[in-house]
Amino acid sequence: MDTPDVGGLQRVTIAPSQQQGDQLHLSDAQIHYLGRVLRLQPGESFIAMDGQGTWWLATWQGNAIAHIAHEILATTELPIPLVLMVAMPKGNGMDEIIRQTTELGVAEIWPVMSDRTLLQPSPNKLGRWQRIATEAAEQSERQRVPKLYPPRPWPAALEALQMATHDSSESKERAIAAFLCTARQGVLLRDSLSQVLSQSGSPTQIVVATGPEGGWTDAEVEQAIAHSFTAVSLGRRILRAITAPIAATTLIAHHLEASQAMSR
Ligand code: SAM
Repeated sequence: MDTPDVGGLQRVTIAPSQQQGDQLHLSDAQIHYLGRVLRLQPGESFIAMDGQGTWWLATWQGNAIAHIAHEILATTELPIPLVLMVAMPKGNGMDEIIRQTTELGVAEIWPVMSDRTLLQPSPNKLGRWQRIATEAAEQSERQRVPKLYPPRPWPAALEALQMATHDSSESKERAIAAFLCTARQGVLLRDSLSQVLSQSGSPTQIVVATGPEGGWTDAEVEQAIAHSFTAVSLGRRILRAITAPIAATTLIAHHLEASQAMSR
């Protein structure tokens, strides 16, 4: 299905509580954004998105109300959801990782504290990161805003992943392909992914994990492998802790979309 021609229209993310029938109740910040920042005039259109896959064509009334004209069908998401587990780099590196991997299509971001993680994020970071993800999703015309989880220690994140991937309704494991980026070992991510995607029955989710400035410890690599991760390489050069998640996401997104195009 082609994306309809709504190019150029601005996106605004709407919480479920803001929608009542075909009316949207806008917040003060959204009114300011539409009127002052975007200079939208009453009667002009924008795209309202619920951040979970739905877009609507909406018309602003010049006040706190916008009217939904109709839903817009779109396909800007990756064919298989991609979960990024990222050992938080120091400084504001997470901001850049969140912004760029959102543009590239990640479905979920799991910040992780590994043994060599130096950052101690302040409690208000999660709200800031979610705002960055929302803005990046609007800017890059995503249908979904990636979900951001609170930072967890690496072993707890691995356990949570295992729990999340166990589909209790069908009482069977969902097919997950999980990759651990390791700077000096492992098969090429490209090759491992090609192999996974060429098998019958595509995975329902792809997970990729990248380490901190000092890299993963041997114990962390072993824990990941015990949780069915494959150790993979992104090439011969050592990438920064900020560059690696962006490179891995780019590579996976490219492969997923190429294999989707080939199967059409
Ligand atoms: N100090 C570590 C070392 O010497 O092995 C390098 C860590 S690197 C700066 C940070 C993270 O980026 C690594 O833990 C890994 O997840 C990822 N990374 C960097 N370059 C990579 C590569 N060529 N292949 C796979 N992962 C890489």
